[in-house]
Amino acid sequence: MVCNMTVRKECTLDPDDWLDFKRLAHQMIDDMVRHLSTLDQQPAWQAMPQETQEALRNEGLPQIGAGAEKAYADFVNHVMPYPNGNLHPRYWGWVQGTGTPLAMLADMLASGINPHMAGFNQAPALVEQQVIEWLRQLMKMPEGTSGLLVSGGMMANILGLAVARHVKAGFDVRENGLQKSQQLLTVYASKETHSWLRKGCQFLGLGNRAIRIVPTDDRFQMDTQSLREMLERDIKRGEKPIAVIATAGTVNTGAIDDLEAIAAICREHDLWFHIDGAFGAFAQISDRFSHLVNGLELADSVGFDLHKWMYMPFEIACVLVRNGKAHHDAFAMNADYIAETTRGVIAGGLPFAERGLELTRNFKALKLWMSLKAHGVQTFIDLIEQNIEQAKYLQGLIDENSELELLAPVSLNVVCFRFRAQMSEAALNKLNAELLLRLQERGIAVPSGTTINDRYALRVAIVNHRSRFNDFVRLVDATLALGRELVSEFAGQ
Ligand SMILES: *Cc1c(COP(=O)(O)O)cnc(C)c1O
Repeated sequence: MVCNMTVRKECTLDPDDWLDFKRLAHQMIDDMVRHLSTLDQQPAWQAMPQETQEALRNEGLPQIGAGAEKAYADFVNHVMPYPNGNLHPRYWGWVQGTGTPLAMLADMLASGINPHMAGFNQAPALVEQQVIEWLRQLMKMPEGTSGLLVSGGMMANILGLAVARHVKAGFDVRENGLQKSQQLLTVYASKETHSWLRKGCQFLGLGNRAIRIVPTDDRFQMDTQSLREMLERDIKRGEKPIAVIATAGTVNTGAIDDLEAIAAICREHDLWFHIDGAFGAFAQISDRFSHLVNGLELADSVGFDLHKWMYMPFEIACVLVRNGKAHHDAFAMNADYIAETTRGVIAGGLPFAERGLELTRNFKALKLWMSLKAHGVQTFIDLIEQNIEQAKYLQGLIDENSELELLAPVSLNVVCFRFRAQMSEAALNKLNAELLLRLQERGIAVPSGTTINDRYALRVAIVNHRSRFNDFVRLVDATLALGRELVSEFAGQ
């Protein structure tokens, strides 16, 4: 890291002393292992102290380096203690995976060899291809299905919708964009659909106007009778439906749409059938619970995260597209500077670049490849079943306690509930919103919040391999204690 000025300015970012570097590397591993092995003794979350906020906000641009040790010390002091908490056994906020120690090291190895994952004639490309093939098998999609690893569920779903638009628009969207569209292209999804759809439709030029919101029933599943009626109405009006978006595991309550019924409707009307299976798709890999997602294998495309219910560190998700050729045709590109050869480094071309938007991609496949080899898929099945059982267990604790109330059916791994007391609905909403913040601020546990039928709910989404059954007892005990504390505070006001 020193520039030799005597002969000619020659620099590198490699260490001057590899032994020093190795010592620091070992130190990093030791510290991180200590951190990971003592998570249950740490608070689920802690607010950043003033000092840290200042250290991270107002530092001038470093002109002269202070050295790797100093940079690492700043990380240890100011960054490592204050993440959002998703590694912790009692973190159930939003839907965020935990990561695993082995996958962390795999990410280091991936950055270490740092391959360019557009494709190329290299072993890492075969690793990604293998991982996609394993995921195809786990999702029970047919041979010939194509796939791509992407950053997250947003991207996976939006790419699926892009292929749908390419195939079903009825004209060459790649050439004309939507400028030539005479008819309004429409897509159908339940009101419980994640915000990716809105963003995706805006980004793909379909616009919010393309989105037809289908009502849901009392289990928060898409009402397929309404879907039928809306399709017929829109077709009669001269609009052009292109796709139905089903959700396997809604973000609010974990509800799973009737995938088989929706697949049948799509077949009838020649529509693209996309499934957002961000976390819920993984019910498919458990023989005990795969019946919940019957019909998943009928999808034209499905998006799902590996950084949620497969516990991988961020980021990794996958889109599978049943018609591999359509997937390729929606994104394929030619350019002289990436022309394929029959031998050498670019033999085989850049297949991954031709399945999505990104050219340069990282080697996110490695962590999943190593994790599946190390733990075996059975371990992941056991963990997913464990999380579903934990959701049922928490539901049981809520059902048997008159001060707690379930606010939505527990379909999978998401539990929505609240503390209840003799007060107005408005006051209960206020109380539960405050209760949630105290659970978080006191470092007890991290559920997140949502509103269900106008009622404020504590929402527990369990995609955590570290949670123990007893952690849910602790959550319930703390909720009761805080609820009572707040009832007396509210009474005193
Ligand atoms: C998390 C989630 C998404 C978005 O996935 P990201 O990985 O955050 O991009 C989409 N749909 C559902 C149902 C989700 O739970």
